[in-house]
Amino acid sequence: MGNYQKINPLKKNGIEAKKAYLIGGGIASLAAAAYLIRDGHMAGENITILEETLVLGGSMDGAGDAEQGYIIRGGRELEEHYECSWDLFSFIPSLNNPSRTVLDEFRELNLAEPIESHCRLIHNCGEKADFSTLGLSDLHIKQITKLFLATEEQLGATTVEDFFDASYFETNMWYFWRSMFAFENWHSVVEMKRYMERFMHLLPGMNQLKGILHTQYNQYDSMILPLITWLKHENVNFDLHTQVTDLDISLVGRQKTVTGIHLVRNGHSEKVAVSADDLVFVTNGSMTENSTLGSMYAPAVLNRDKVNCGCWNLWKNIASKDPSFGHPEVFCNDIDKTKWESFTMTFKGPFMDKFLKELTDQDPGQGGVVTIKDSNWLMSWSYSKQPHFINQPDDVFVLWTYGLFPDNVGDYIKKKMCDCTGEELVSELLYHMGLKDKIHEILKTVKVIPCMMPYITSQFMPRVKGDRPDVVPEGSTNLAFLGQFAEVADDCVFTIEYSIRTAMMAVYTLLELEKQVTPVYASKYDIRVLLMAAKTLYSGRLPGETIIRKLLKDTTLEGLF
Ligand SMILES: Cc1cc2nc3c(=O)[nH]c(=O)nc-3n(C[C@H](O)[C@H](O)[C@H](O)COP(=O)(O)OP(=O)(O)OC[C@H]3O[C@@H](n4cnc5c(N)ncnc54)[C@H](O)[C@@H]3O)c2cc1C
Repeated sequence: MGNYQKINPLKKNGIEAKKAYLIGGGIASLAAAAYLIRDGHMAGENITILEETLVLGGSMDGAGDAEQGYIIRGGRELEEHYECSWDLFSFIPSLNNPSRTVLDEFRELNLAEPIESHCRLIHNCGEKADFSTLGLSDLHIKQITKLFLATEEQLGATTVEDFFDASYFETNMWYFWRSMFAFENWHSVVEMKRYMERFMHLLPGMNQLKGILHTQYNQYDSMILPLITWLKHENVNFDLHTQVTDLDISLVGRQKTVTGIHLVRNGHSEKVAVSADDLVFVTNGSMTENSTLGSMYAPAVLNRDKVNCGCWNLWKNIASKDPSFGHPEVFCNDIDKTKWESFTMTFKGPFMDKFLKELTDQDPGQGGVVTIKDSNWLMSWSYSKQPHFINQPDDVFVLWTYGLFPDNVGDYIKKKMCDCTGEELVSELLYHMGLKDKIHEILKTVKVIPCMMPYITSQFMPRVKGDRPDVVPEGSTNLAFLGQFAEVADDCVFTIEYSIRTAMMAVYTLLELEKQVTPVYASKYDIRVLLMAAKTLYSGRLPGETIIRKLLKDTTLEGLF
């Protein structure tokens, strides 16, 4: 889609009489509200966001202070072809300078301070491990090619470990892959295929995380805060502490129309009547639902409660009304396969900052994630640009770490990760960094907040067509699904881009706007990208490269790759 399609759609007749209810206050709903205003010309006063917690932003959180410790459940890797995300942030003013946009400042930062890892893998307590190639054999390349060529229908609910030879799981590529994207061996190979295709242009720089983009601060401060500020300025209503429990949906023939919203507001049950003209957007499912925090001296206790589980119960209630509303149980019923743990460390004083710069040979924010190859918990850390919080003092530094195997016993702390206090988690990390002798001293300077997330990889569970509802299910007149558990062809879950894309699709479809949704970046159809990716898989030695180069010499295609 070129600029020719980037029109300002005409205002639809009757838009003034419509109201929009957005269930969930994550980026998906916030983006949908922004598109209702910009492209749908709906007045902010007619838009209400219903959020069960007391904060907006959903999974994109960032809170705390230097004394109690900062907390982010996660940090985000972003890239240039988040087409819908950059469209959204191209019209959200920056908080620093309203004449510039969030995108303007984000791009400027990434040009000035690009990510290019000098230390992607470590092992043996603080020793750099080789990360120069993907380390694939001919068999692995054959299997990757087979995956690329297979259809999603052929692959069905196959897992990554069903698909690949056992030796693949020892390659650098798998270390890079699972630590960048949080894939586990038992996750859906279809999701892996989508990542491979969607981000194929990043494959040549994968070992150094080239092409990964970062924000000035954590993503709450850098993305959510400006977006909320703009929506507030547009008079959007935010109903916090309001949990939606069910929808009344009239099913007549193939037509599906929401007629009521059941909710609990500040502990009181209510029903909101919805007219056929109104619109309802539901973020069905959340990767951070029921996440829990621990402290320096207490572990984050895994929450298995299925009764108080707002988003999954709402989706289950909706799904029970019609098969086109999907199958939530596929994603949320096996917590042991969908959980992992992260922890945020707040260090006072310069020691860790200096140490990490020396260990990784670069400034914070420019290295991306570092994975500890021989960690039993399979830990990776990310030392983002500092300060990581708007209110963070100069002598305070924030470091985020996560482990993919929370049920494993540590290498230094002989306990399962999930049973560890903040103090124990940071001790294990310091051991792997080669700082065993300094643990006692460093513990006096750090606050650690552990975070256990029961559903963090639920969107990667093996699934088949129909398990996720369409963004606007067939026959729906006023209901759309948003977020990670609505179906979008070709795009990748566990990204903000996916949620923002569903918002764009939902608004344009329900309002019948003539504007096109920005297509998913289709790098897999670009011959240059394909050739460079193939060359990378073969560790820089593309079979037949000399002959191809000879054939292309002195032609218009010389220099193709
Ligand atoms: C640790 C971690 C690492 C990540 N890494 C990356 C990355 O590298 N790159 C990237 O692009 N993305 C990443 N993401 C993913 C990205 O943050 C999410 O995909 C995105 O934020 C999801 O937004 P959402 O609005 O769809 O859902 P959510 O953010 O989950 O929001 C759902 C909201 O709905 C509310 N809610 C649920 N049920 C109800 C109800 N019944 N009534 C009212 N409110 C309800 C919830 O409280 C929540 O606020 C990461 C996320 C995490 C947690």
